Amino acid sequence: MKVDRPAPQTVAYFSMEVALESPLPTYSGGLGVLAGDMLRSAADLGLSMVGVTLLHRKGYFSQRLDDDGRQYEEPATWSIEQYLHLTESTCQVEVEGRPVTVRAWQYLITGASGTVVPVLLLDTDLPCNDPYDRTLTDNLYGGDQRYRLCQEVILGVGGVRMLRAMGYTRIVRFHMNEGHAALLALELFAEQFKQMLQRREDAINLVKHLCVFTTHTPLPAGHDQFPLDLAQRVLSADQWEALHALSCCNGSLNMTHVGLHLSDYVNGVTKRHREVSRTMFPDHAIGSITNGVHSPTWTAAPFRALYDRYTPAWREDNFLLRYALGIPLDAIQQAHDEAKRSLITEVNRTANAVFDLHTFTIGFARRATAYKRPDLLFYNLERLRQISARRGPLQVIFSGKAHPRDEEGKALIQKIFRWAKELAPEVKVAYLPNYNMDLGLLLTSGADLWLNTPQPPYEASGTSGMKAAHNGVPSLSVLDGWWLEVPLQGVTGWAIGSRDNGTSFERRDDKDAEELYSTLEETILPLYYGDPVHWTELMRFTIALNASFFNTHRMLQEYVTHAYRDR
Ligand SMILES: *Cc1c(COP(=O)(O)O)cnc(C)c1O
Repeated sequence: MKVDRPAPQTVAYFSMEVALESPLPTYSGGLGVLAGDMLRSAADLGLSMVGVTLLHRKGYFSQRLDDDGRQYEEPATWSIEQYLHLTESTCQVEVEGRPVTVRAWQYLITGASGTVVPVLLLDTDLPCNDPYDRTLTDNLYGGDQRYRLCQEVILGVGGVRMLRAMGYTRIVRFHMNEGHAALLALELFAEQFKQMLQRREDAINLVKHLCVFTTHTPLPAGHDQFPLDLAQRVLSADQWEALHALSCCNGSLNMTHVGLHLSDYVNGVTKRHREVSRTMFPDHAIGSITNGVHSPTWTAAPFRALYDRYTPAWREDNFLLRYALGIPLDAIQQAHDEAKRSLITEVNRTANAVFDLHTFTIGFARRATAYKRPDLLFYNLERLRQISARRGPLQVIFSGKAHPRDEEGKALIQKIFRWAKELAPEVKVAYLPNYNMDLGLLLTSGADLWLNTPQPPYEASGTSGMKAAHNGVPSLSVLDGWWLEVPLQGVTGWAIGSRDNGTSFERRDDKDAEELYSTLEETILPLYYGDPVHWTELMRFTIALNASFFNTHRMLQEYVTHAYRDR
């Protein structure tokens, strides 16, 4: 793309992963989906934004599961030219003392307003580069610490230089989506510092004014840290010097600390997550902007048709989804039946199962990892069998990938396969392989209930329940993340646990499992099978109260008001 006039004031949004379309393996999970949804909403709202990420030529990975639920990771190669356009711009960065040339592919997002938001996908696979450097934009979250740090140099430093090379001269804010992108701020600081036109404090303030940092997880493993000797080897002399001038890193290069030190506005992704982050980083002011999802992307076709008919401008103004209260109940029921039929058909096809359209169906899909507790539902198999025998049949559909190095997460998938065999045929359990955006939509729209059982307070936000809400699917969720911001019990779903365990990390699997079972047995199943009209009313409230708020239009408007405005 040629830039023949100065770009308008633009926000540059940097993220290690961005979910552009389901088949493009440039994302691993929630962080990437959020980034994609954010940029899609910017295009809808007519905001000038540009996304920056890496190409991920070999993607995250494609998941295959054998009959015992053992995970095999296969490369997720994709046809880049089919989706992206190669730009003419290049820039140079230094990695381990070697010059690396970076080029950029471009993906264009066109919004409901007609605004186009470009996303730049940086690529180092050029013949002029060292063979190791050519691999740096291949694998998302693959390789060792050295590989990861080199990637972060390409993203942060390369990203800033690429924007300059492409003529983006009026960037009003640089937004770091998680610490992976924090070297962008170090590069901005190094630019100032090298010129020596500024006192150190002035240079820091100038950079802070430009930067916004969003932290996404209370899990220590989610915060990138690198040994200083590795940082010294990988970074250029200018960046190394800038890092010292910042004096924010004692003993290691902690990307969260870099982001916190160089941003005027820092936020967590729900109100609870802000409280947890404040205890983790007591020296910094931290705000909160609750996550959302991009409404049209996460609404299944039957519901899109319904909203188009009853609240026509909902794509431009997601708040209008509150008028879902006026949609007739039988129209909602029909749309759900259609979405459920698509899901059951897919389960029976891929998992070789015999799931039934009229059986109460629980959905659970997210990254397979310990703190998400996919095993909580199986805490007492006999109890689950009894509930189903007493209150009516139930079937459960799981999906989710474990990170290649998360052995505990992989073992959880195998356990679910074992429990599924033990529970059959009374309770049917299926695990769909290779969770991606398409499956995410199919599952969150086709289930009757969305189950969420993380260990508090680790679920910073959670977004799949918001997708379910867009399709009228209520949640049964532990009180953590976004579910703490849903005010009424029994109106759009049900809660497990209490509101007041604050930021404590105490595990209470036995109590949580008991609450899960008793809510299913005494409230949810009797309502579903015994009072279908009341159940459909609940679905309608779920759309009107939750989808109208937990969307990225509202979220982006909050970013504009709190993070991007002139401060
Ligand atoms: C929405 C989504 C996620 C994130 O879901 P959480 O509830 O936030 O864990 C992860 N992966 C895919 C493919 C998704 O669509």
